[in-house]
Amino acid sequence: MHIGIITFATMTQKDIRLLDKTGLIDLAKAYNQPAFRAKQLYEWLWNKSCTSFDEMTSLPLGFRERLKEDYTINGISENLVQNSIDGTIKSRYELHDGNMIESVLIPVPEDNRYTVCVSSQVGCSLSCKFCATGQMDRVRNLDPGEIYDQVAKTNVQSMAYYNHPLTNIVYMGMGEPLLTYGNVLKSIEYITSPDGLGMSQKRITVSTAGIAKMIKRMADDQVKFNLALSLHAADDLKRNEIMPINEQNNLEILMDALSYFYQNTKNKISYEYIIFKDFNDGVEDARKLLKLCKKFPVKLNIIEYNQVEGLNYKKATKNNLDAFAKVLTDNGVMVTVRKSRGEDIDAACGQLANKA
Ligand code: SF4
Repeated sequence: MHIGIITFATMTQKDIRLLDKTGLIDLAKAYNQPAFRAKQLYEWLWNKSCTSFDEMTSLPLGFRERLKEDYTINGISENLVQNSIDGTIKSRYELHDGNMIESVLIPVPEDNRYTVCVSSQVGCSLSCKFCATGQMDRVRNLDPGEIYDQVAKTNVQSMAYYNHPLTNIVYMGMGEPLLTYGNVLKSIEYITSPDGLGMSQKRITVSTAGIAKMIKRMADDQVKFNLALSLHAADDLKRNEIMPINEQNNLEILMDALSYFYQNTKNKISYEYIIFKDFNDGVEDARKLLKLCKKFPVKLNIIEYNQVEGLNYKKATKNNLDAFAKVLTDNGVMVTVRKSRGEDIDAACGQLANKA
Protein backbone atom coordinates (compact mmCIF):
# COMPACT_ATOMS: atom_id res chain seq x y z
CA MET A 1 0.00 0.00 0.00
CA HIS A 2 1.38 3.37 -0.97
CA ILE A 3 1.99 5.73 1.89
CA GLY A 4 1.84 9.24 0.54
CA ILE A 5 2.86 12.49 2.13
CA ILE A 6 -0.45 14.06 2.98
CA THR A 7 -0.62 17.82 3.08
CA PHE A 8 -3.76 19.09 4.70
CA ALA A 9 -5.06 22.56 4.05
CA THR A 10 -4.98 24.77 7.12
CA MET A 11 -8.16 24.77 9.15
CA THR A 12 -9.19 28.20 7.87
CA GLN A 13 -8.82 27.30 4.21
CA LYS A 14 -11.91 26.13 2.34
CA ASP A 15 -11.95 24.26 -0.93
CA ILE A 16 -12.93 26.88 -3.49
CA ARG A 17 -14.38 24.15 -5.72
CA LEU A 18 -17.17 23.61 -3.19
CA LEU A 19 -18.55 27.01 -4.23
CA ASP A 20 -21.02 26.93 -7.11
CA LYS A 21 -21.58 29.74 -9.63
CA THR A 22 -23.57 31.83 -7.14
CA GLY A 23 -20.95 31.15 -4.48
CA LEU A 24 -18.22 32.46 -6.79
CA ILE A 25 -20.25 35.60 -7.54
CA ASP A 26 -20.63 36.20 -3.78
CA LEU A 27 -16.92 35.58 -3.33
CA ALA A 28 -15.99 38.14 -6.02
CA LYS A 29 -18.25 40.68 -4.29
CA ALA A 30 -16.76 39.96 -0.89
CA TYR A 31 -13.26 40.64 -2.26
CA ASN A 32 -14.43 43.86 -3.99
CA GLN A 33 -13.90 42.38 -7.44
CA PRO A 34 -16.10 43.06 -10.48
CA ALA A 35 -18.69 40.34 -11.22
CA PHE A 36 -16.81 39.05 -14.30
CA ARG A 37 -14.06 37.74 -12.00
CA ALA A 38 -16.51 35.03 -10.90
CA LYS A 39 -16.87 33.87 -14.51
CA GLN A 40 -13.07 33.93 -14.94
CA LEU A 41 -12.63 31.88 -11.79
CA TYR A 42 -15.26 29.38 -12.94
CA GLU A 43 -13.44 28.93 -16.24
CA TRP A 44 -10.06 28.48 -14.56
CA LEU A 45 -11.53 25.83 -12.29
CA TRP A 46 -13.88 23.93 -14.60
CA ASN A 47 -12.71 24.63 -18.14
CA LYS A 48 -8.94 24.76 -17.66
CA SER A 49 -8.97 22.29 -14.73
CA CYS A 50 -6.59 24.60 -12.89
CA THR A 51 -5.36 23.42 -9.50
CA SER A 52 -3.19 26.38 -8.50
CA PHE A 53 -4.18 30.00 -7.97
CA ASP A 54 -0.77 31.05 -9.34
CA GLU A 55 -1.76 29.79 -12.79
CA MET A 56 -4.88 31.99 -12.90
CA THR A 57 -2.98 34.73 -14.66
CA SER A 58 -6.03 36.70 -15.85
CA LEU A 59 -6.83 37.49 -12.20
CA PRO A 60 -5.03 40.43 -10.54
CA LEU A 61 -2.05 39.33 -8.46
CA GLY A 62 -3.45 40.80 -5.23
CA PHE A 63 -6.73 38.89 -5.66
CA ARG A 64 -4.83 35.65 -6.30
CA GLU A 65 -2.74 36.17 -3.18
CA ARG A 66 -5.84 36.66 -1.06
CA LEU A 67 -7.47 33.59 -2.56
CA LYS A 68 -4.33 31.60 -1.72
CA GLU A 69 -4.58 32.71 1.90
CA ASP A 70 -8.24 31.82 2.29
CA TYR A 71 -8.86 28.94 -0.08
CA THR A 72 -7.39 25.73 -1.35
CA ILE A 73 -8.11 23.56 -4.40
CA ASN A 74 -8.45 19.94 -3.34
CA GLY A 75 -7.41 18.17 -6.53
CA ILE A 76 -6.63 14.50 -7.02
CA SER A 77 -3.15 13.24 -7.83
CA GLU A 78 -2.10 10.26 -9.88
CA ASN A 79 -0.76 7.50 -7.64
CA LEU A 80 -0.50 4.51 -9.97
CA VAL A 81 -1.24 3.84 -13.65
CA GLN A 82 -1.64 0.27 -14.91
CA ASN A 83 -1.83 -0.61 -18.60
CA SER A 84 -3.69 -3.72 -19.72
CA ILE A 85 -2.58 -5.69 -22.74
CA ASP A 86 -5.95 -4.85 -24.31
CA GLY A 87 -5.33 -1.08 -24.10
CA THR A 88 -7.45 -0.45 -21.00
CA ILE A 89 -5.76 1.90 -18.53
CA LYS A 90 -6.56 1.90 -14.83
CA SER A 91 -5.52 4.93 -12.79
CA ARG A 92 -5.40 5.11 -9.04
CA TYR A 93 -5.67 8.58 -7.55
CA GLU A 94 -4.83 9.90 -4.13
CA LEU A 95 -7.29 12.39 -2.67
CA HIS A 96 -6.30 15.37 -0.52
CA ASP A 97 -7.03 13.37 2.66
CA GLY A 98 -4.96 10.34 1.61
CA ASN A 99 -7.89 8.18 0.47
CA MET A 100 -7.59 6.38 -2.86
CA ILE A 101 -10.01 5.93 -5.75
CA GLU A 102 -9.76 4.41 -9.22
CA SER A 103 -10.91 5.30 -12.74
CA VAL A 104 -10.62 3.28 -15.92
CA LEU A 105 -10.11 4.39 -19.53
CA ILE A 106 -11.65 1.89 -21.94
CA PRO A 107 -10.64 2.55 -25.55
CA VAL A 108 -12.54 0.96 -28.44
CA PRO A 109 -10.78 2.56 -31.43
CA GLU A 110 -12.74 0.51 -34.00
CA ASP A 111 -15.95 2.18 -32.77
CA ASN A 112 -14.29 5.53 -32.14
CA ARG A 113 -15.32 5.14 -28.54
CA TYR A 114 -13.17 6.24 -25.61
CA THR A 115 -14.98 5.77 -22.33
CA VAL A 116 -13.99 6.69 -18.81
CA CYS A 117 -15.51 4.82 -15.90
CA VAL A 118 -15.44 7.09 -12.85
CA SER A 119 -15.86 6.50 -9.12
CA SER A 120 -18.34 8.46 -7.02
CA GLN A 121 -17.45 7.26 -3.51
CA VAL A 122 -14.44 5.94 -1.62
CA GLY A 123 -15.55 2.33 -1.10
CA CYS A 124 -19.24 1.43 -1.17
CA SER A 125 -21.93 0.66 1.39
CA LEU A 126 -24.05 -1.63 -0.77
CA SER A 127 -21.96 -4.79 -0.39
CA CYS A 128 -22.88 -6.53 -3.65
CA LYS A 129 -21.50 -10.00 -3.19
CA PHE A 130 -19.58 -10.28 -6.48
CA CYS A 131 -17.91 -6.88 -6.29
CA ALA A 132 -14.43 -6.07 -5.00
CA THR A 133 -15.45 -2.51 -4.05
CA GLY A 134 -18.39 -3.94 -2.12
CA GLN A 135 -15.95 -5.78 0.12
CA MET A 136 -14.60 -2.40 1.28
CA ASP A 137 -16.66 -0.17 3.57
CA ARG A 138 -17.88 3.19 2.34
CA VAL A 139 -15.42 5.76 3.60
CA ARG A 140 -16.91 8.94 2.14
CA ASN A 141 -18.58 10.49 -0.87
CA LEU A 142 -16.43 12.18 -3.47
CA ASP A 143 -16.74 15.93 -3.89
CA PRO A 144 -17.99 17.11 -7.29
CA GLY A 145 -14.46 18.32 -8.10
CA GLU A 146 -12.98 14.90 -7.33
CA ILE A 147 -15.39 13.27 -9.80
CA TYR A 148 -14.76 16.00 -12.37
CA ASP A 149 -10.99 15.57 -12.01
CA GLN A 150 -11.21 11.89 -13.00
CA VAL A 151 -12.85 12.93 -16.27
CA ALA A 152 -10.50 15.84 -16.93
CA LYS A 153 -7.38 13.76 -16.22
CA THR A 154 -8.57 10.76 -18.22
CA ASN A 155 -9.36 13.06 -21.13
CA VAL A 156 -5.72 14.19 -21.12
CA GLN A 157 -4.63 10.54 -20.78
CA SER A 158 -6.82 9.53 -23.72
CA MET A 159 -5.26 12.26 -25.87
CA ALA A 160 -1.74 11.21 -24.80
CA TYR A 161 -2.22 7.48 -25.44
CA TYR A 162 -4.78 7.44 -28.26
CA ASN A 163 -4.74 10.95 -29.67
CA HIS A 164 -8.50 11.02 -29.14
CA PRO A 165 -10.60 12.80 -26.53
CA LEU A 166 -13.09 10.95 -24.36
CA THR A 167 -16.40 10.23 -26.05
CA ASN A 168 -18.33 8.69 -23.15
CA ILE A 169 -18.47 8.90 -19.38
CA VAL A 170 -19.97 6.19 -17.20
CA TYR A 171 -20.53 6.48 -13.46
CA MET A 172 -19.83 2.81 -12.85
CA GLY A 173 -16.63 2.85 -10.83
CA MET A 174 -16.37 2.61 -7.05
CA GLY A 175 -19.50 3.55 -5.15
CA GLU A 176 -23.23 4.06 -5.72
CA PRO A 177 -23.73 7.39 -7.54
CA LEU A 178 -27.32 7.86 -6.41
CA LEU A 179 -26.23 7.82 -2.77
CA THR A 180 -24.23 10.95 -3.51
CA TYR A 181 -26.73 12.36 -5.97
CA GLY A 182 -26.14 16.08 -5.30
CA ASN A 183 -22.39 15.73 -5.85
CA VAL A 184 -22.92 13.65 -8.99
CA LEU A 185 -25.27 16.29 -10.44
CA LYS A 186 -22.77 19.05 -9.67
CA SER A 187 -19.94 17.09 -11.28
CA ILE A 188 -22.08 16.62 -14.40
CA GLU A 189 -22.74 20.34 -14.47
CA TYR A 190 -18.99 21.05 -14.49
CA ILE A 191 -18.31 18.35 -17.08
CA THR A 192 -21.05 19.52 -19.45
CA SER A 193 -21.27 23.28 -18.91
CA PRO A 194 -20.11 25.35 -21.92
CA ASP A 195 -17.83 27.18 -19.41
CA GLY A 196 -16.62 23.81 -18.13
CA LEU A 197 -15.47 20.80 -20.17
CA GLY A 198 -18.41 21.22 -22.59
CA MET A 199 -19.11 17.50 -22.99
CA SER A 200 -22.56 16.27 -23.98
CA GLN A 201 -25.04 14.99 -21.35
CA LYS A 202 -26.14 12.40 -23.90
CA ARG A 203 -22.69 10.82 -23.61
CA ILE A 204 -23.03 10.36 -19.86
CA THR A 205 -24.52 7.29 -18.19
CA VAL A 206 -25.15 7.08 -14.47
CA SER A 207 -25.35 3.52 -13.25
CA THR A 208 -27.23 2.50 -10.13
CA ALA A 209 -27.54 -0.72 -8.18
CA GLY A 210 -31.20 0.28 -7.84
CA ILE A 211 -32.31 3.03 -5.47
CA ALA A 212 -35.93 3.43 -6.59
CA LYS A 213 -36.74 6.70 -4.88
CA MET A 214 -33.66 8.37 -6.39
CA ILE A 215 -34.55 7.07 -9.86
CA LYS A 216 -37.93 8.84 -9.46
CA ARG A 217 -36.18 11.93 -8.16
CA MET A 218 -34.02 12.01 -11.31
CA ALA A 219 -37.17 11.82 -13.40
CA ASP A 220 -38.68 14.73 -11.46
CA ASP A 221 -35.43 16.66 -11.92
CA GLN A 222 -35.68 16.02 -15.69
CA VAL A 223 -32.05 14.95 -15.95
CA LYS A 224 -30.65 14.76 -19.47
CA PHE A 225 -28.13 11.94 -19.06
CA ASN A 226 -28.74 8.22 -19.49
CA LEU A 227 -29.48 5.71 -16.79
CA ALA A 228 -28.19 2.18 -16.34
CA LEU A 229 -29.53 -0.31 -13.84
CA SER A 230 -27.08 -2.93 -12.59
CA LEU A 231 -29.63 -5.70 -12.73
CA HIS A 232 -27.57 -8.93 -12.65
CA ALA A 233 -30.55 -11.15 -11.77
CA ALA A 234 -34.09 -11.24 -13.11
CA ASP A 235 -35.87 -12.55 -10.03
CA ASP A 236 -35.95 -11.26 -6.47
CA LEU A 237 -34.66 -14.41 -4.86
CA LYS A 238 -31.44 -14.41 -6.85
CA ARG A 239 -31.09 -10.64 -6.77
CA ASN A 240 -31.46 -10.60 -2.97
CA GLU A 241 -28.69 -13.15 -2.81
CA ILE A 242 -26.11 -11.06 -4.66
CA MET A 243 -27.37 -7.50 -4.07
CA PRO A 244 -28.68 -6.81 -0.56
CA ILE A 245 -30.10 -3.46 -1.78
CA ASN A 246 -32.79 -5.49 -3.56
CA GLU A 247 -34.44 -6.30 -0.24
CA GLN A 248 -35.78 -2.74 0.06
CA ASN A 249 -35.87 -2.05 -3.70
CA ASN A 250 -37.26 -5.20 -5.24
CA LEU A 251 -37.79 -5.69 -8.95
CA GLU A 252 -41.41 -4.58 -8.92
CA ILE A 253 -40.50 -1.33 -7.16
CA LEU A 254 -37.54 -0.82 -9.50
CA MET A 255 -39.56 -1.47 -12.67
CA ASP A 256 -42.14 1.02 -11.46
CA ALA A 257 -39.41 3.64 -10.86
CA LEU A 258 -37.80 3.00 -14.24
CA SER A 259 -41.15 3.28 -16.06
CA TYR A 260 -41.67 6.60 -14.30
CA PHE A 261 -38.17 7.69 -15.34
CA TYR A 262 -38.80 6.73 -18.95
CA GLN A 263 -42.24 8.36 -19.09
CA ASN A 264 -40.90 11.61 -17.71
CA THR A 265 -37.57 11.92 -19.49
CA LYS A 266 -37.58 9.58 -22.52
CA ASN A 267 -33.87 9.17 -21.78
CA LYS A 268 -32.08 5.94 -22.66
CA ILE A 269 -32.23 3.16 -20.09
CA SER A 270 -29.92 0.19 -20.13
CA TYR A 271 -29.63 -2.93 -18.01
CA GLU A 272 -26.23 -4.22 -17.01
CA TYR A 273 -26.28 -7.96 -16.51
CA ILE A 274 -23.11 -9.68 -15.33
CA ILE A 275 -23.49 -13.30 -16.30
CA PHE A 276 -22.22 -15.79 -13.71
CA LYS A 277 -21.63 -19.48 -14.25
CA ASP A 278 -24.41 -21.68 -12.85
CA PHE A 279 -26.16 -18.77 -11.17
CA ASN A 280 -27.97 -16.52 -13.65
CA ASP A 281 -26.88 -17.95 -17.01
CA GLY A 282 -29.73 -20.40 -17.73
CA VAL A 283 -32.37 -20.17 -20.43
CA GLU A 284 -35.01 -19.81 -17.69
CA ASP A 285 -33.11 -16.77 -16.35
CA ALA A 286 -33.07 -15.33 -19.88
CA ARG A 287 -36.85 -15.75 -20.16
CA LYS A 288 -37.37 -13.89 -16.88
CA LEU A 289 -35.03 -11.16 -18.07
CA LEU A 290 -36.94 -10.92 -21.34
CA LYS A 291 -40.08 -9.94 -19.42
CA LEU A 292 -38.18 -7.11 -17.74
CA CYS A 293 -36.97 -5.93 -21.15
CA LYS A 294 -40.51 -5.49 -22.45
CA LYS A 295 -41.70 -2.93 -19.91
CA PHE A 296 -40.13 0.11 -21.65
CA PRO A 297 -37.45 0.55 -24.32
CA VAL A 298 -34.24 -0.80 -22.92
CA LYS A 299 -30.82 -1.80 -24.12
CA LEU A 300 -29.23 -4.84 -22.50
CA ASN A 301 -25.52 -5.14 -21.83
CA ILE A 302 -24.48 -8.64 -20.90
CA ILE A 303 -21.11 -8.47 -19.20
CA GLU A 304 -18.66 -11.30 -18.77
CA TYR A 305 -17.60 -11.67 -15.17
CA ASN A 306 -14.02 -11.30 -14.03
CA GLN A 307 -13.00 -13.44 -11.16
CA VAL A 308 -12.41 -11.47 -7.96
CA GLU A 309 -9.87 -13.00 -5.60
CA GLY A 310 -11.56 -14.59 -2.59
CA LEU A 311 -15.06 -14.59 -4.12
CA ASN A 312 -16.83 -17.69 -5.40
CA TYR A 313 -18.47 -16.34 -8.55
CA LYS A 314 -17.20 -17.61 -11.91
CA LYS A 315 -17.39 -16.58 -15.54
CA ALA A 316 -20.23 -18.24 -17.53
CA THR A 317 -19.21 -20.57 -20.34
CA LYS A 318 -19.39 -19.32 -23.91
CA ASN A 319 -22.10 -21.86 -24.75
CA ASN A 320 -24.32 -20.71 -21.91
CA LEU A 321 -23.69 -17.08 -22.72
CA ASP A 322 -24.60 -17.60 -26.39
CA ALA A 323 -27.77 -19.54 -25.57
CA PHE A 324 -28.75 -16.91 -23.01
CA ALA A 325 -28.23 -14.00 -25.42
CA LYS A 326 -30.11 -15.83 -28.18
CA VAL A 327 -33.33 -15.99 -26.14
CA LEU A 328 -33.23 -12.22 -25.90
CA THR A 329 -32.08 -11.29 -29.41
CA ASP A 330 -34.63 -13.72 -30.92
CA ASN A 331 -37.29 -11.74 -29.13
CA GLY A 332 -36.18 -8.36 -30.38
CA VAL A 333 -34.11 -7.13 -27.42
CA MET A 334 -31.09 -4.95 -28.27
CA VAL A 335 -28.23 -6.91 -26.73
CA THR A 336 -24.54 -6.12 -26.51
CA VAL A 337 -22.19 -8.68 -25.05
CA ARG A 338 -19.35 -6.85 -23.39
CA LYS A 339 -16.10 -8.74 -23.30
CA SER A 340 -13.96 -8.46 -20.21
CA ARG A 341 -11.65 -5.48 -20.43
CA GLY A 342 -8.57 -4.86 -18.34
CA GLU A 343 -8.92 -8.19 -16.58
CA ASP A 344 -5.14 -8.54 -16.16
CA ILE A 345 -4.99 -5.29 -14.16
CA ASP A 346 -8.23 -5.79 -12.15
CA ALA A 347 -9.87 -2.95 -14.04
CA ALA A 348 -13.01 -4.72 -15.16
CA CYS A 349 -16.53 -4.48 -13.81
CA GLY A 350 -16.63 -5.21 -10.09
CA GLN A 351 -12.84 -5.37 -9.74
CA LEU A 352 -12.00 -1.87 -8.51
CA ALA A 353 -10.55 -2.11 -5.03
CA ASN A 354 -7.40 0.05 -5.02
CA LYS A 355 -5.26 -3.02 -5.55
CA ALA A 356 -1.87 -2.63 -7.18
S1 SF4 B 1 -21.43 -3.23 -7.66
FE1 SF4 B 1 -21.53 -1.01 -7.37
S2 SF4 B 1 -23.11 -0.72 -5.83
FE2 SF4 B 1 -22.53 -2.88 -5.72
S3 SF4 B 1 -20.93 -2.92 -4.13
FE3 SF4 B 1 -19.90 -2.70 -6.11
S4 SF4 B 1 -19.60 -0.49 -6.30
FE4 SF4 B 1 -21.18 -0.80 -4.72
